[in-house]
Amino acid sequence: MTERIWAGIEGGGTKFVCLLGVGPDDVLAVGSFPTTTPEETLGAVTRFITTHLDGRALVAAGAACFGPIDLDVRSPGYGSITNTPKAGWSNVNVVGILRERLGVPVRWETDVNGAALAEQRWGAARGLRSAVYFTVGTGIGGGAVIDGRPLHGLLHPEMGHLPVVVTPDAAGAGVCPFHGGACLEGVASGPAIQARAGRPAERIPPEDPIWEEEARYLAFAAATVTYTLSPQRIIFGGGVLKQDHLLPRIRQQFQALVNGYVRSPTVTDALEQYIAPPQLGDRAGALGALALALDPDLAE
Ligand code: ADP
Ligand code: ZN
Repeated sequence: MTERIWAGIEGGGTKFVCLLGVGPDDVLAVGSFPTTTPEETLGAVTRFITTHLDGRALVAAGAACFGPIDLDVRSPGYGSITNTPKAGWSNVNVVGILRERLGVPVRWETDVNGAALAEQRWGAARGLRSAVYFTVGTGIGGGAVIDGRPLHGLLHPEMGHLPVVVTPDAAGAGVCPFHGGACLEGVASGPAIQARAGRPAERIPPEDPIWEEEARYLAFAAATVTYTLSPQRIIFGGGVLKQDHLLPRIRQQFQALVNGYVRSPTVTDALEQYIAPPQLGDRAGALGALALALDPDLAE
């Protein structure tokens, strides 16, 4: 019998990462391709897959992609990136192109829902039914898995744009193209920190008060999702979290904000488990896409 194989693709604003494998510990090939034009990048991805099959039968593919994306299977735009500022990618039907070139079913999610799914199945939230994943980098994104399934609704969660209470300084220097300094991404992304501090976040020393402020904004987000989604774990990753003093500060600020109101032992006695670092690193998005490919039950 021909061996079977699955593909997981993470579509990011700077690169696409593609895995071929049969599970998280059994990845047979990994490729990475710069995000240029849809034709070039998706061409490179599909060529990578077809040339690495090595006689195996591709069963299905998953794609976890930057957005906003259309996830509504009843919509004519299903499978497309919608109105992205990323030049050339608006209204590109990624699922349609991949399906046509690979000849297999293609399942589809946001990049951060994909990362949340991978962390929930195989990483920092393994064994739990629900988790939220935030990435704090060039932008901020948040994904959620609730009861084992990536969360959708009207569209998909946009937790990077949660409104937060900000200082006047942060409000004035906010960088979100839609909300200025009135949302999380506007005040707490890497570029927002840089806009306020006048130098890149990686060059700001740990004792600078800007980190306490950063922790407060991220704690607002953690409190908001705790109250609204009640996840069993909240994971913070992305370039800005390379500041390893930041996660303990987020926990502290979270505790101060919530003030004993959430009466779960996880929050009261094991906060370092509730607010946790990721475990799958750069591969989380692509592994989430692989999980989608492997599990037809996740398709709507
Ligand atoms: P992207 O979001 O583009 O996928 P990253 O998650 O690496 O990529 O985020 C890049 C952002 O993270 C930049 O704004 C950068 O300033 C910030 N960053 C990268 N490394 C660090 C660091 N060690 N400390 C603080 N901020 C960092
Ligand atoms: Zn915003």
